[in-house]
Amino acid sequence: MRAEIISVGTELLLGEITDTNARFLASQLPGLGIDLYWISQVGDNQARLVEVLRRAWQRSDLILITGGLGPTEDDLTREAIAEMLGEKLKLVPALERELQEFFARLGIDMPLTNLKQATLIPSADAIRNVSGTAPGWWVEKDKHILIAMPGPPREMQPMWHHQILPRLRQSTTGEIIVSKTLKTFGLTEAKVGEMVSPLLAASNPTLGIYAKVDGIYLRLTAKARGQKQAEEMIAPGEARLRSILGEYIWGTDSDTLEAVVGHMLAEKGLSLAVMEGYTGGLLAATITGAPGAVAYFKGGLVAGSEEAQIACGVDAGVISDCGASSREAAQAMAGAARLHLGADIGVGIAGVDEPGGGEGRPVSTIYIGIDDGKNKRAITARYPGDRAWAKRRAVATALFKLREILATAG
Ligand code: AMP
Ligand code: MG
Repeated sequence: MRAEIISVGTELLLGEITDTNARFLASQLPGLGIDLYWISQVGDNQARLVEVLRRAWQRSDLILITGGLGPTEDDLTREAIAEMLGEKLKLVPALERELQEFFARLGIDMPLTNLKQATLIPSADAIRNVSGTAPGWWVEKDKHILIAMPGPPREMQPMWHHQILPRLRQSTTGEIIVSKTLKTFGLTEAKVGEMVSPLLAASNPTLGIYAKVDGIYLRLTAKARGQKQAEEMIAPGEARLRSILGEYIWGTDSDTLEAVVGHMLAEKGLSLAVMEGYTGGLLAATITGAPGAVAYFKGGLVAGSEEAQIACGVDAGVISDCGASSREAAQAMAGAARLHLGADIGVGIAGVDEPGGGEGRPVSTIYIGIDDGKNKRAITARYPGDRAWAKRRAVATALFKLREILATAG
């Protein structure tokens, strides 16, 4: 089955919103064994919408549309589908009643413009919308399935999960696509590509490489008749990747660095505290994003340059000038966090942006200190690019380093 996604809304073309609906739907199709061939975005314009729909009808078996089902004049998805199929829109009394009831529950009169949300064409069934007023459309005609869903993700996603997915599963052949992602840190994308190059040529499972802020991901994807068979196809590839990439792999699938590190801390009964200059609290915010962090995270301090200097002085026992951004400052901050917040392990981050990243962008030099009461370590990392990215990379680097230390800690 060939599928195509169409996202409707002028705000998409103006760059005002990101097309997260297409991304969500695209992520759902492999599990159904449906091949997605195209994603289009089109504004709120009936002629252009009809043009995109005609093309989709010619080349795709399954067409998934989101957006343009609202009550206002620029919501034209229904009108465009009707025009493309040469059918007439008709008000459906049962749908009108449901709309009236929806507004009655809110205690307001239904605006007349909402009436168009109670219309259908002869080939369409309404799909219930429990979170909003616009029902979806399910159209089956000439061996095509066309599904229109409301734009707001909090309406579209429940509709997808509860109404659409089960019905689609029934209509598809039963071939599924299963993926397994291995997450690495510490190697460049090019280096990873070079190391795993023998596996890149395979077609089932295929191997994809993606650069993310928390490292390079490798995704093995197999297509098979069933889950078990697909998993069996993936297993040898995974074993091979693990033998090649070894210690660089920190997790799989939905793992996060903060959860992996948190799990290790909890298991070893160790606690953690941080003091951050450059990252301004992002490390603490990330750590507390892991479930159960209260058990091992003692807290965080956000430092200005002066606090970093003071940490250095305290650490050295005298007021010494270590600079606000240096290996010594990061180590001293780690020690200060550990001491003042009463944790087993302290992490300090200091850093500075300097010109030289090309195209007027800075190079960020980050110092990460880790103090476990026995050893004081410091690492230096450089990231070209923007500050927001450098902050996220610094957090990932600190967490990966922590993981490495915890792996060998008693
Ligand atoms: P609509 O159904 O076209 O009236 O869209 C209503 C709202 O849903 C928009 O203002 C967006 O906030 C959201 N929305 C619509 N399309 C998308 C999309 N493709 N991705 C993410 N959000 C969307
Ligand atoms: Mg819209």
